[in-house]
Amino acid sequence: GESAEATRAMIARRQQLLGPAYRLFYENPVHVVRGEGVWLYDPDGNAYLDVYNNVACVGHCHPRVVEAIARQASVLNTHTRYLHDLVLDYAERLLSYFPPDLGHVMFTCTGSEANDLALRIAKAHSGGSGFIVTQNAYHGVTDVLAGMSPSLGASMVLGDHVRIVPAPDTYRSGGDVGSAFAEHVEAAIGDLARSGVRPAALIVDTIFSSDGIFPDPTGLLKPAVEAIRRAGGLFIADEVQPGFGRTGSHMWGFARHGIVPDLVSLGKPMGNGHPVAGLVARPEVLSTFGARMRYFNTFGGNPVSCAAGMAVLDVIEGEALLGNARRTGEYLRTGLDELAARHALIGDVRAAGLFVGVELVREHSTREPASEAAARVVNGLRERRILISTAGPNGNVLKIRPPLVFTCENANVFLAALDDTLAEIERI
Ligand code: PMP
Repeated sequence: GESAEATRAMIARRQQLLGPAYRLFYENPVHVVRGEGVWLYDPDGNAYLDVYNNVACVGHCHPRVVEAIARQASVLNTHTRYLHDLVLDYAERLLSYFPPDLGHVMFTCTGSEANDLALRIAKAHSGGSGFIVTQNAYHGVTDVLAGMSPSLGASMVLGDHVRIVPAPDTYRSGGDVGSAFAEHVEAAIGDLARSGVRPAALIVDTIFSSDGIFPDPTGLLKPAVEAIRRAGGLFIADEVQPGFGRTGSHMWGFARHGIVPDLVSLGKPMGNGHPVAGLVARPEVLSTFGARMRYFNTFGGNPVSCAAGMAVLDVIEGEALLGNARRTGEYLRTGLDELAARHALIGDVRAAGLFVGVELVREHSTREPASEAAARVVNGLRERRILISTAGPNGNVLKIRPPLVFTCENANVFLAALDDTLAEIERI
């Protein structure tokens, strides 16, 4: 097998070539050379169960997607300044999954570009410039988005016109979290006003992934959406994480909350790994921006990206992956609840379909975050060739987010390994 020395050399080479800003997963990083379905393989052919990758939503290297990309790449790949059927066919298909009020889609290559475009459109439409995000949000890599992504770390400086609100944390706060969330949004609007800033938008990841995964109760976003609209701002749903059926019940996270956003950003799972992303908009919201501005994204919406996106939708439908996410998600949740009854480290299990957070605490009474234990669980699972990561401001929420083709059999493998890892940690 590959020696520890070879792995160390590879890490050093990476650092030398890519520089200091990159991070690797796991104390013992994983070298992967191939993927298939829910499995990743190292150079020695060892299989790792991928319980984390939401990008490869229909499974790594799904033959249908690979074939669609290869076929279109061999015919034509160019930008959107020519007429081409595929960008229209894909736009029409994608929009068919949205409420009719959301009638336009613009294509980008990354979720960051989609969010950045959403900010520009929100400013043009509202005439405001203030943005409200959650306390540990992540929305992307551009300068402006980094200034709205507190999860990047303590040295991250928030933008002048950005205000943060606590995520609707059902574990640490009782009562009506939806109303409380809206009150925080109203306070942030007031704070902006005192600085002479009008709000442009409230932007949230509709499953609060980096905040620690808070899917429930459904409907919780409603009062906050009403609050931002009353103040003249827009509601932007960042669907980069929950979108494309992950929650099992709906194609989009916002739909669980019974709201229709003004703008919806899409990314990660959209092309199963091919870089395609986009922004869905209400036509009336896009009109001011469209009248004043041109938009051109060299690679966004190219025929190969559209072929990839179309194939992903075909597979989601053809393999009934929403139903699978719902059923396997419920099975996984039941298994986790059962583990929670036996392992004191587990304080809370939160799940919607195949988006699951398991919050680890040092003590149930204090709910003190068990951050170190969470890191040990992640690394312990990695040694058992099971891949997950963590979420939340304290890194104490196990982030369980496998490809949507994950089966109950896969869930059993994961649950047994988690049981074993927790037992090992509790013995220390
Ligand atoms: N929004 C959310 C909620 C995300 O999780 C991410 C990526 N982690 C982004 C936006 C940015 O997407 P990208 O990395 O494709 O630019």
